[in-house]
Amino acid sequence: MFDTLSDRLSATFKNLRGKGRLSQQDIDDTLREIRRALLEADVSLQAVRPFVAAVRERAEGTEVSKALNPAQQIVKIVNEELVAILGGETRRLRFAKNPPTVIMLAGLQGAGKTTLAGKLARWLKTEGHTPILVAADLQRPNAVTQLQVVGDRAGVPVFAPEPGNGVGNPVKVAQDSIDFAKAKMHDVVIVDTAGRLGIDAELMKQAADIRDAVKPDEILFVLDAMIGQNAVETALAFQDGVGFDGVVLTKLDGDARGGAALSVRAVTGKPVMFASSGEKLEDFDVFHPERMAGRILDMGDMLSLIEQAEKAFDAAEAEKMAGKLVRNEFTLDDFLKQMEQLKKLGSMKKLMGMLPGMADVKQQLNEIDDKDVDRIAAIIKSMTPGERDDVKIINGSRRQRIAKGSGTTVQEVNNLIERFLEAKKMMQQMARGGMPGMPGLPGA
Ligand code: GDP
Repeated sequence: MFDTLSDRLSATFKNLRGKGRLSQQDIDDTLREIRRALLEADVSLQAVRPFVAAVRERAEGTEVSKALNPAQQIVKIVNEELVAILGGETRRLRFAKNPPTVIMLAGLQGAGKTTLAGKLARWLKTEGHTPILVAADLQRPNAVTQLQVVGDRAGVPVFAPEPGNGVGNPVKVAQDSIDFAKAKMHDVVIVDTAGRLGIDAELMKQAADIRDAVKPDEILFVLDAMIGQNAVETALAFQDGVGFDGVVLTKLDGDARGGAALSVRAVTGKPVMFASSGEKLEDFDVFHPERMAGRILDMGDMLSLIEQAEKAFDAAEAEKMAGKLVRNEFTLDDFLKQMEQLKKLGSMKKLMGMLPGMADVKQQLNEIDDKDVDRIAAIIKSMTPGERDDVKIINGSRRQRIAKGSGTTVQEVNNLIERFLEAKKMMQQMARGGMPGMPGLPGA
């Protein structure tokens, strides 16, 4: 799932790496590629258009973060827009004030409704609920048996028509199940309805009749993510014929291109609430737009780096520092401040290699260790303010005093001073050369 889309998007972003600034041409090319990648992944045009427009507006707009280089900015924007198109916030189930909460499942035959009913029931059980499953799918001969098997596996009772009573009348079965749930203190009723291989009027009418009889708190439309471009049409037909509150995507473990997942919310306005990704009852989870976007971008590392960089980046501080560098006023105190900021970035070092033009800085950072930062801090704090402002005055006897005061050796003090002078030189070059967006370091 999403493999091709992920690859295409990564390739697009790779083209931007190493660019200090994006030209209009860069933005146009990138957006064209993103649009193509989405359409090829079967995302509906109705969803692609506003998506691309939103990314364009933000990419061309004034939204520039000094913490990020242009490639990172585009990744960040695309990520956020993916989250938005997938629904933004996670939409949780709404439970009725007066139990039982009635959840009705609708969808085509084979979409995975019955399996889903079992998964949902099992999940609700683990959440402390006491659900029952209701067999209101009386079309398929073995549907009731299948639900019973699923119910057994989930350890949840199944309400099915007694022979001779209500057989062939799913509306009555559904209605009776509510009374049964009330009497037996079940707090959630999951009604599995019949599906057809295709959309037809009779199917819609039956689902609508069940809906009117049981007045569900939530109608969930179960959608097979593998049906590609037909997903949108099917979703609209169900929205029209029955209406629904949320979507459950099934078969996300398959090799579908992902279009259904990315289109259904934009086309129907209804959130995806759950995701099903296998035949086992455990292959089920609440749908989290953020996680799904992360999966599509397949850039978990990059995204967390972006987040960290933004958090650690203090724009005002960096500007001050850049000024100092240019004026050659960069002191050991500033050096320490930067070290501490880098330490905050934590895993930064590992990720640095992914960033454009970061090889040199990575080399430098490799020489910095967290423990190192503490020792450096101790050494610098053992210096007088005068020494910190101007390392040139730190002669041999001062070095000895500083080593003693910081519990280190003269060798370490020497190393630090050497490193500081090197870093200063390097950063001055960067400040002049306009190295883009190194977090915590001036030069953006
Ligand atoms: P229904 O007709 O809508 O009730 O669909 P079923 O629950 O009978 O599912 C149809 C087929 O899809 C069955 O073979 C299920 O095992 C399979 N299935 C359901 N959900 C998933 C899923 O998330 N992943 C995969 N791989 N198969 C699934």
